[in-house]
Amino acid sequence: MAVITFARDMPSEKEISSEAARLHDKLGSLGWSLEVCRAYAPLTLEINSLKKKRNAIVLAHSYQTPDIIWGVADFVGDSYALSDAARKTDAKIIVFAGVRFMAETAKLLNPKKRVFIPSLEAGCSLADDITAEDVRQLKRKHPGVPVVCYINTSADVKAESDVCCTSSNAAKIIRALPGRQIIFIPDEFMAKNLEKETGKKIISWHSRCVVHQDFDERKLAALREAFPSAKILVHSECPPAVVQKADLVGGTGDMERFVKSSDASSFVLVTECGLSDRLRFELPNKEFVGMCALCPYMKKNSLALILEVLQGLPQEKEIALPEEVAQRARRALEKMFGLSQS
Ligand code: SF4
Repeated sequence: MAVITFARDMPSEKEISSEAARLHDKLGSLGWSLEVCRAYAPLTLEINSLKKKRNAIVLAHSYQTPDIIWGVADFVGDSYALSDAARKTDAKIIVFAGVRFMAETAKLLNPKKRVFIPSLEAGCSLADDITAEDVRQLKRKHPGVPVVCYINTSADVKAESDVCCTSSNAAKIIRALPGRQIIFIPDEFMAKNLEKETGKKIISWHSRCVVHQDFDERKLAALREAFPSAKILVHSECPPAVVQKADLVGGTGDMERFVKSSDASSFVLVTECGLSDRLRFELPNKEFVGMCALCPYMKKNSLALILEVLQGLPQEKEIALPEEVAQRARRALEKMFGLSQS
């Protein structure tokens, strides 16, 4: 664990005990002992104190580790919900515990707020596998075909696109666009899944999510047999053969809403492990079984790195986007908000 420098007096024994009890209440069911929670308590106390001092909030994606989610996060959700939380907050500083494209999206929607990312290594295999020049080449090859970019893209790529989408609204946005053909970037599997769902011809790119690409339909069939009453919820970044076996296909926000409103008591969440960990705690009457995988990029963030950001507000970790790129990328996001509400 990191050596912590306290900007205030070292917390008292009473403060540490009370914080350890708060953390243990949340993390105990995930196997965190009271001793481990005591070791983390000075760190979470210091971060939460600095948040107040700096008028800052921590936004945490559902795939973050439980110490971040339960220890210091002010909002937890998928990238769309977090962007929305970023728009509504009065805080001046946003520390985005997620990956870089999410922090960029928060900055695009909140140009006046300062947005920081704790780890510079928190990329994304989808977002990092396509450039603005790649999109320009696709447009030259397919003139006049509308370009829809998944939200898991850099601001540069969003700036070259006509409209952005999330896993929840992708099909609606594709259907709302004119013509039978769409360029959809960058997720190859999501493009195939959307082609089937919307009936439009989709010209795709070849990026894949390192977490969702490896789920296997044979394992899913075995789980169906082992847990016949469990609902199987599959992320739309998974291969089509896996998606075919699902009771619901969507993003993490869709999965969370489904679980919360479903009468079923048992679920297989085919996505990153962080979502089942969180819902297991929030919904103790529901059971989460089967498979999940860890995102190496999401797990680059840590409490120590969040503390470092709040202490020094390091320039290299602040999201800065050229205004001309930001304006065009924002247009693609705003078009998404318009089309998804219509
Ligand atoms: S889970 Fe996949 S899409 Fe999400 S950040 Fe990780 S690599 Fe990117």
